[in-house]
Amino acid sequence: NLTQRLARVMKTLKGEARLTESNIADALREVRLALLEADVALPVVKDFIAAVKEQAVGEEVLGSLTPGQALVGVVHREMTKVMGEANVGLNLATQPPAVILMAGLQGAGKTTTVGKLAKFLKDTQKKKVLVVSCDVYRPAAIEQLKTVAGQAGAEFFPSTTADKPVDIARAAVDWAKRHYHDVLLIDTAGRLAIDEAMMQEIAELHAAIKPIETLFVVDAMLGQDAVNTAKAFNDALPLTGVILTKLDGDARGGAALSVRHVTGKPLKFAGVGEKLSGLEPFHPERMASRILGMGDVLSLIEEARKGVDEEKALEFAKKLKSGKGFDLNDFKEQIGQMRKMGGMASLMDKLPAQFAQAASQVAPGTEDKMIRRIEGIINSMTPAERAKPELIKASRKRRIATGAGVQVQDVNRLLNQFEQTQKMMKQFSKGGLGKLMRGMKG
Ligand code: GDP
Ligand code: MG
Repeated sequence: NLTQRLARVMKTLKGEARLTESNIADALREVRLALLEADVALPVVKDFIAAVKEQAVGEEVLGSLTPGQALVGVVHREMTKVMGEANVGLNLATQPPAVILMAGLQGAGKTTTVGKLAKFLKDTQKKKVLVVSCDVYRPAAIEQLKTVAGQAGAEFFPSTTADKPVDIARAAVDWAKRHYHDVLLIDTAGRLAIDEAMMQEIAELHAAIKPIETLFVVDAMLGQDAVNTAKAFNDALPLTGVILTKLDGDARGGAALSVRHVTGKPLKFAGVGEKLSGLEPFHPERMASRILGMGDVLSLIEEARKGVDEEKALEFAKKLKSGKGFDLNDFKEQIGQMRKMGGMASLMDKLPAQFAQAASQVAPGTEDKMIRRIEGIINSMTPAERAKPELIKASRKRRIATGAGVQVQDVNRLLNQFEQTQKMMKQFSKGGLGKLMRGMKG
C-alpha cells in the first residue's frame, strides 16, 4: 500500500531541504499507483499528479520532515483542495418550498437518501419536509419511499404508476406551498445504466420544477465507472451537488475525487449506512486521507506547519522523532496547541486510531470539558511528577485528584492515555512515519 511504499521512498530521501523534481519522482510514482488502487479514474489521476508536482517542486522541507513526508503533506493538501476545502451545505434560500431533485442510477441510493435528508433537515434544522416519488415504473419504489418517509417523520405525497412524473412533481409543489412545507424532496426513477429516455425524463422534470438543488446521487462502489455516470448526468442537468453513498462499505473513495473532477460540483454529503442515520456532511480532508489510505498523522503535520507556533511545532516534531523526553508537560502543551487548532471535536478527525479510540469514549459535545479536566489534572501535578509520571503512586494520585476536583480514577485514566501516547511516540521514532501509519491501519 501507499504508506509502505512511501516509507521505503522516504528512507532514501532523508536530509534534503527542498522538494525537487528528482527527489519527489519516486514518491510521486507511488502516489500515482495508490490513486489507481483507490479507484480514481486514470485521466483524473494524471491531472491530479501534474497539479501536485507543480505545487510541490520548490517547497521547503520543514524541520525534521523528510521530503517524502513533505510530499505527502502536499498531496493531501491538494487532494483536500480539489474535493472542496470545507463542507458545503444545502442551499435552501428561496421562497418555500425549497425543492430538491434527486438524480442518479437505479440502486445508487436515491430513495434511501431522500429519507436520510428528510430526517437530517427535520432533526437539525426543524424543517417541515414533504417527499414525493416520481419513480412511476416500479410500484415498489413508491412504497419504499412511503416507508422511508414514515421512518423519517416526513410527510409523504402519494403518487401512482399511472401518473406522469412532471404532473406528480407539479402537484407536490402545489401541495407543499399550500401546506407550508419548507422543503420538498423529489425522488426519481433511475435505470441500471445511462439511457436517453431517463436523461430526457429527468431533464424535463428539472425544467418544469426548477429545483434550487439538483443532487447527483452516486454509489462509491462504482469506482472508475463513476466517471462516465457523473459525466452523463452533469451534461444532462445543471447539478448543484453530489452525494456519495455506500462509503461504509469497502469502497476506497476514489470515486469522490473522480466525480468532483468531472462535475466540478461540491460533494455535499456521504452515505455511510443503510439506516436513515447513515448520512454525514462530506469532509474533503477525511476523504483525502481515506483515498491515500492513511490515518491523519499527516494532517497533524500540516496543522503543525501552518503553525500555531512554528517553533513549537518543530520542537514537537523533533520530540516525536527522538521518542525521548516526551513527558506530561509535552502532553499538556500538545493538548493546548490542539485546542488552539480548533477544539477537540475537530481534533477527533485528525487523530490516529489509538488516540481516537480513547477520545471516542467521551460523549459528543463534552470534549472541551474533557480537555479542561485533563489540563486541570496535569496542573495539579508537581513539575517533577510531570517529568516523571512513574513517580505518581496512590497517595500522589489522591492529592492530584483532590487538587483538580476529580476522582482518582480520572487521574488513572489520564495516566493510561499518556502511557499509550508515549508508546506510540516510541513506535514513531523506531520505524518512522511509515511504520506508525501501518500500525494504525492494523
Ligand atoms: P435508488 O434505486 O437510487 O433509489 O436506491 P435505494 O435508495 O433503493 O438504495 C439501493 C440499495 O442501496 C438499498 O439496499 C439501500 O439500503 C442501499 N444503500 C443506500 N445508501 C446506502 C449507504 O450509504 N450505505 C449502504 N451500506 N447501503 C446503502
Ligand atoms: Mg429509488
